Amino acid sequence: MLENKEAPKTPLDSLGEFALIDHLTKSATTALASTVLGIGDDAAVLKHKGETVVSTDMLIEGVHFDLAYMPLKHLGYKAMVVNLSDIYAMNAQATQVLVSLAVSNRFPLEAVEELYAGIHLACKTYGVDLVGGDTTSSQQGLQLSVTALGIAPKTGAVLRSGASEKDLLVVSGDLGGAYMGLQVLARENEVFKANPQHQPDLEPYSYLVERQLKPEARKDVVQLLHDLKVQPTSMIDISDGLSSEVMHLCKQSGVGCRVYENKIPLDPQFISVCEEFNLDSTTIALSGGEDYELLFTIKQTDFDKIKGNPNLTVIGHMTAKGDAPSLITRAEEVIPLKAQGWKAF
Ligand code: ADP
Ligand code: MG
Repeated sequence: MLENKEAPKTPLDSLGEFALIDHLTKSATTALASTVLGIGDDAAVLKHKGETVVSTDMLIEGVHFDLAYMPLKHLGYKAMVVNLSDIYAMNAQATQVLVSLAVSNRFPLEAVEELYAGIHLACKTYGVDLVGGDTTSSQQGLQLSVTALGIAPKTGAVLRSGASEKDLLVVSGDLGGAYMGLQVLARENEVFKANPQHQPDLEPYSYLVERQLKPEARKDVVQLLHDLKVQPTSMIDISDGLSSEVMHLCKQSGVGCRVYENKIPLDPQFISVCEEFNLDSTTIALSGGEDYELLFTIKQTDFDKIKGNPNLTVIGHMTAKGDAPSLITRAEEVIPLKAQGWKAF
């Protein structure tokens, strides 16, 4: 992205660690009753009723994000979403987050402010309190680690291991968009490097680019299932691509699975951009990462409660232990699902 050469640049080391922390966290007011004490002491103090759910994730510059096409505000927002998604994938409500940051002198204060603008925006959007973290310098680049906490419902957290034979496999939203958004951004970045005068027209790709740069965690789906009185039997979020997540559910639940190719929800823009890039849309939906949709199983008796809901699609069902997780293609061929995944290494 174009850098604004006019913007003021305040070197980070002109503030010192404590002033920097104060500066970044001054707008982090806490709102939840379960937050007894937030930022400012040696540790935060929380008071949760019921099971506490905790998850953490690390994002490394050059491995998980490229600042050439990821604006810092989006990065802050996405770092939060990635973690909150793991909490929602337990069928839990996210409540607090901690953010740890290692940053090199290459970044001025204004850049770190942008990052925190995204973090604070996500806190507001999802109704979570920022209650702590750590700030340190790094030799090179930016590293960000977010820890999210949440509260499981009275019925307990929903695990990957709870699916049974004949349960229906359900997914929220649509798949593959974030991966294709990244392909579009990478292509535009190559064109920009060759010709800095080039003004990219991302309008025809707006949905996909948004899926990549500003993903949302499906807090709404957890609420929807609660409102519909649907008790998921197992659940996972889709960070690495549908096939690897299906395989996690199968392995940990000790069941097989059949996924129907013609049921996988795809956005029309995704389908047309796959054609433009000469990529097979099913392959991308199965193996492209970072959609942050929820994948879960329900009892067949709950089907009527979700039937026709535009946010939810039944894509298959669980089968007997020992069956290989498989894809039933449009041509009605049965092929084994492979966990290509979104490999960090
Ligand atoms: P300590 O030296 O005891 O670890 P710090 O000076 O690192 O304390 O942190 C002071 C307070 O600021 C703590 O409440 C800590 O959780 C919070 N904090 C530090 N860095 C961050 C950050 N990047 N984001 C949010 N809170 C932070
Ligand atoms: Mg500290």
